[in-house]
Amino acid sequence: MKKHNFNAGPCVLPRQAVESAIEAIRDFDGTGIGLLEISHRTPGWERIMAETEQLWRELLNIPEEYAVFFVGGGASTQFFQVPANLLKGKAAYLQTGVWAKKAAKEAKYYGDVEIVASSEDKNYTYIPKEYTIPTDADYFHITTNNTIYGTELHEDIDCPITLVADMSSDIMSRPVDVKKYGMIYGGAQKNVGPAGVTFVIIRKDLLGSSERKLQSMVDYATHYPDEARNRSMYNTPPVFPIFVMHETLKWVKELGGLEVMYKMNKEKAELLYNEIDRNSMFVGTAVKEDRSLMNVCFVMAPGKEDLQDEFFNFAKERGMVGIKGHRSVGGFRASLYNACPKESVEALVACMQEFENLHK
Ligand code: PMP
Repeated sequence: MKKHNFNAGPCVLPRQAVESAIEAIRDFDGTGIGLLEISHRTPGWERIMAETEQLWRELLNIPEEYAVFFVGGGASTQFFQVPANLLKGKAAYLQTGVWAKKAAKEAKYYGDVEIVASSEDKNYTYIPKEYTIPTDADYFHITTNNTIYGTELHEDIDCPITLVADMSSDIMSRPVDVKKYGMIYGGAQKNVGPAGVTFVIIRKDLLGSSERKLQSMVDYATHYPDEARNRSMYNTPPVFPIFVMHETLKWVKELGGLEVMYKMNKEKAELLYNEIDRNSMFVGTAVKEDRSLMNVCFVMAPGKEDLQDEFFNFAKERGMVGIKGHRSVGGFRASLYNACPKESVEALVACMQEFENLHK
């Protein structure tokens, strides 16, 4: 049976990226040696690193004045690395979910943290709109897509101070005006590759701007020391996830880039949200205007709660994988990342319709 992968991350990847990774593990770049066995100093690998950075720059239209690099530790490491590098006195955070809350928690080790607004009162089912960004803060931190709750900031906001964004779960899903941000970071394991690599896009004037003494690995300047020695590879890069990222971004480029991804993502999300709104068995959890294109969260309609397990098994029997909602929301979550084909969304919609007919 065909499986439809709706996992929230790690998640479905473009088939061609997976296939070329398999081949590269056998024989990297015609060297007769596998990707996992080469030195990261070989010219073939240096080319992959350079091309990967170039793909990021091209796809996101990243201006010259930004550094792009790839490190380990996941987005969770950035939660403390951001304030270690950028927090001098006070930082401001928008609390739109537990990832945002965790980011703010780590910042408190380095200085004052102001939570400018939070949607915790309604289990993060919306994005707060009424708030003032304190101009005396060193930066304002946002989470553009809240993976667990299925809410998303649909625009690049105007910010009077340095804007820092965790884009772990919506990077490369739409065009982004990078110039509005001081820094963008995220774990790769949704739209850009497997787990094990973290992307960092940072305006160069923010590198080495910390007044505190930092350990080398924590200091962003280490990973992009100067123009001449960019891609420093200060330590061994996670070659496998970077390779898959390279192949994944090549696929994004071949399909036409982020405008095309955005169009496809809007179509897929609309298909599923329309069904949720139409189908008497289900209701969406996020407020409509903040609904995420990446993570679609829904629960059984009032009075139908007892059918939750039955639907879960019903969907499983029809090939749906990874649709269980996060424990803090319950119900279901279908993640529709770039590589999730429309055909999978159509299969889920058909399954929801079939389930409704069964219970009429
Ligand atoms: N931020 C967001 C929005 C996430 O969805 C996640 C989980 N994938 C994280 C941060 C944490 O990422 P990691 O597991 O790479 O530390």
